[in-house]
Amino acid sequence: MSPSDQTPAVGSTEDTIAAIATPPGPGGIGIIRISGPLALPIFQKIFLPHQKIKPLNYESHRMYYGWIIDPANSSPIDEVLAVFMRAPHTYTREDVVEIQCHGSYPVLQEILSIICTIGGRLAEAGEFTKRAFLNGRLDLTQAEAVLELIEARTDVGRSMAIGQLQGRLYEKVSAIQEKLVVMRAIIEVAIDFPEDETDIIDSAALHEQLTAEVQEPLAALIVRADEGKIFREGISAVILGRPNVGKSSLLNTLLEEERALVTPVPGTTRDTIEEFINIRGMPVRIIDTAGIRHTSEAVEEMGIQRAHTKLADADLVLFMLDATEPLTEEDQDLYRSIKQNSKKQKVLLVLNKIDIAPGASPEQYRTLLGNEELVAVSAKLHTNISKLEERMFSLITGSLKRTGWDPGAAIIPNVRHKDALKKALEACHRVEQGLNVNISPDLLAIDIQSALDHLGDIVGETTTEDVLDMIFERFCLGK
Ligand code: GDP
Repeated sequence: MSPSDQTPAVGSTEDTIAAIATPPGPGGIGIIRISGPLALPIFQKIFLPHQKIKPLNYESHRMYYGWIIDPANSSPIDEVLAVFMRAPHTYTREDVVEIQCHGSYPVLQEILSIICTIGGRLAEAGEFTKRAFLNGRLDLTQAEAVLELIEARTDVGRSMAIGQLQGRLYEKVSAIQEKLVVMRAIIEVAIDFPEDETDIIDSAALHEQLTAEVQEPLAALIVRADEGKIFREGISAVILGRPNVGKSSLLNTLLEEERALVTPVPGTTRDTIEEFINIRGMPVRIIDTAGIRHTSEAVEEMGIQRAHTKLADADLVLFMLDATEPLTEEDQDLYRSIKQNSKKQKVLLVLNKIDIAPGASPEQYRTLLGNEELVAVSAKLHTNISKLEERMFSLITGSLKRTGWDPGAAIIPNVRHKDALKKALEACHRVEQGLNVNISPDLLAIDIQSALDHLGDIVGETTTEDVLDMIFERFCLGK
């Protein structure tokens, strides 16, 4: 029977999938991954080992050197290193082959298309990790951690993802689930023996257990989720100020590269420019805006409108002033408009060009502008830039610093987990209220089960198919 005769229906985890696992564009090495029951038969058809190997004698987890050939005419496609990994000790828990070829698109594409003509099919985004999850190698929080690790922007993001990949969130959630299962068991006995109910259910003891072993740990995880969001998703900071105060220069200084256009002519930053920087592990999207001012030029007007939109979305506003000039009407109008638009944003005053204005008094500017916090800098000479970053960090993470929180070491749920944790906590509150008024054990059991189901959603035990699809669709091809 040929491999293609054996190919099961598309979408089944029984079929064999393949994808390019390395990013697009030329590279020294490109990797193709194959996973499924036909991984080895497909590989044997296209691989010509340097040393003769009997067809079934490939050792698991051993690198082989040879050529990939087109089985139709035996023409060579590329010189490669390849490894066969036998199930179940693989990422997907299925047979896996990884081929390391030269990282050019035509090579990778040619090998992939041959694989797909002899029994493999193109993997969907995240399908390898989805199989790892469905085959029980990873729980859902670990599968999500794989994506976070791939997308991590900072070292803190990386270490948060690693903690989750190691199963720390899973263990925490499982521990809470176990406590709830014990409580459910006690309540179920009371349901089975209603005549002894009052002896079996010690409401006060159950209440205490529920608070200490379930509700408090759940509430703590929810708080962690809010704090972790800053490090996982980052924040956005918008630089505002009238033309020529040095906004683009500050952006460049922060990026330490010439990304924005710097020029002495007012109004040349026509649109908003955005870049990510890393402030102590916190990803910060810095947005340089066109100088907000009234203008007759349509293009610039558009940029100004965008600046207003960015302002509404930002977490932090860096309002820049020019230390070589006294505060102008325009500065004050702009400050008022920021305060009107930015109800929730924090504002930090940045007094720029102190290198050529040694006599400037920061206090004067602050007094006129609502006594906001102020940092005096020189964007040009990089003076006080680390102080500015320090102030940005503490303005955003002020409450975290007080608790001495270390995001790299903590268990940090994401938004999806937080939502499920909140629902689990609500169900526990209903149990608590029920215990207070001695309601029937059947009703207590329903709410305990509901809390368990929400926790099951986090780790993937009760997660619905569409939620799983949504999670795995966010992955790249080949992962
Ligand atoms: P923007 O219009 O607010 O983006 O201002 P730019 O960044 O384009 O800067 C306007 C002018 O001010 C340019 O000539 C910069 O070189 C100059 N400039 C910016 N920051 C400083 C600074 O800290 N010190 C001095 N001396 N000049 C600066």
